[in-house]
Amino acid sequence: AKDADYLISLMRAIPDFPKEGILFRDIMPVFADARGMAILMDALVSNLSIPNDDFDAIAGLEARGFLFGPILAERLGKGFIAVRKAGKLPPPTAKQSYALEYGEATIEIERNAIREGERILIVDDLIATGGSAGAARDLVISCGGVVTGFSFIVELAGLDGIQSLGGYPASSLLTMP
Ligand code: IMP
Repeated sequence: AKDADYLISLMRAIPDFPKEGILFRDIMPVFADARGMAILMDALVSNLSIPNDDFDAIAGLEARGFLFGPILAERLGKGFIAVRKAGKLPPPTAKQSYALEYGEATIEIERNAIREGERILIVDDLIATGGSAGAARDLVISCGGVVTGFSFIVELAGLDGIQSLGGYPASSLLTMP
């Protein structure tokens, strides 16, 4: 409980960022703090939604999924696959577009990064509506991968983001309004 309190104490809430009416949750101070990062990584390892033997690699979303996805993968003896914003990765890539509140976003992975039937755990810092994680799920599947679950640091309450993913095992360390 002490560790959990310490982790929570490092999280920042910024009203009206990046837009009026949005309460932005900032996890960067956790990474700036040695003890915070150790607590975070231990908690992620012990709160996985599926057994370590049930997946082969971790796919993390740009940009904050890149901060801890590779550390988690290394700790668990897995590889790491980058899910990037469109236009950053060399071909051949697979693309997936998804709806934002206003407009559309596209994410990409390198096609050869995922083997047919490879079992993938998808990670991101935070799930709100689930739109980004759901697009990553579709992208992994379109490349022949098998999505086995999701892991998040923060889940925003009341948006049903995890429910929107379609019944996959999913865990989050903190639920915040
Ligand atoms: P979703 O697609 O609506 O679930 O939004 C989640 C995506 O937006 C993730 O990639 C998050 O990093 C980012 N995001 C949304 N809200 C916040 C926030 O309050 N803090 C940090 N990232 C956020």
